Amino acid sequence: APHSPRKLAAGNWKMNGLTAALSELDALAARDNGCDVLICPPFTLLTPAVAHAGEIAIGGQDCHAAESGAHTGDISAAMLKDAGASHVILGHSERRADHAETDASVRAKAVAAHEAGLITVICLGETEAERDAGDTLRVIETQLAGSVPDCATASNTVIAYEPVWAIGTGRTPTNDEIAQVHARLREKLVERFSDGAAFTLLYGGSVKPGNASVIFDIEHVNGALVGGASLKAADFGPIIDALA
Ligand code: PGA
Repeated sequence: APHSPRKLAAGNWKMNGLTAALSELDALAARDNGCDVLICPPFTLLTPAVAHAGEIAIGGQDCHAAESGAHTGDISAAMLKDAGASHVILGHSERRADHAETDASVRAKAVAAHEAGLITVICLGETEAERDAGDTLRVIETQLAGSVPDCATASNTVIAYEPVWAIGTGRTPTNDEIAQVHARLREKLVERFSDGAAFTLLYGGSVKPGNASVIFDIEHVNGALVGGASLKAADFGPIIDALA
């Protein structure tokens, strides 16, 4: 079991990327990255992405909690694994908002993902109204307790703190605000899991080449989950370098 967190630069392509986008993966795979790098393309690109990834890990952006069956339009964890994925993002705020995912459904998906041998990247974060009401830490703790299953370990689970109001907005919390949340996440993981000190904790929300190194200097920030700036190797490359 790992004793200290591995660094991870994770890219979430969301609903972006046609076949031509694989050239960005080629560019990332050709770099000397120096830390773990993960790209989560749309489902349609998973199989070709694996062929273009080199040392870069490939992940899904969601999976169903069931192994198989009558769930039109859904993808199982075993299907992701079969396509060559090693990771899956779960509970992204866009899934929670657009598909009514709850802490309980995210936890069930995480159990299924772990059973299929995938590493989960479990997302949580407060809305702007929750932050304005002073509820950030309470919301984060509730999501962490509810979304992360008992089978989580530092080897199979990454936690991504993504304030909803910072995603795609160009706005980020202050360093002190990020530090406060990450310290609380670490404290709660250590309380609950014997290897809680070794879980990789990501920050996400408007991470760019220009702010990455300052964010990576914050205690208990072990990497980033990056949306917009992960689409081009010219943007994601400098973010990887800031982490490595
Ligand atoms: P962003 O998205 O980097 O475009 O803000 C982050 C995310 O949603 O994971």
